[in-house]
Amino acid sequence: MAATTTWTDPITCPFCGGELASPGAGFMDHIDENGDCETEFERWRQNLASDLTGEWSG
Ligand SMILES: [Zn+2]
Repeated sequence: MAATTTWTDPITCPFCGGELASPGAGFMDHIDENGDCETEFERWRQNLASDLTGEWSG
């Protein structure tokens, strides 16, 4: 499993740099309130998924 994002700090949003109330659940709340971050997160997750798909099918 290779995470390619530069997610260095679990309590900082990697997309806008905003501080999260807590790791994990705090991020889910954060993207709930920030549509731009949610969009970026979905894109990031789909990139990971397509990377994996490419590896497995390749
Ligand atoms: Zn954010």
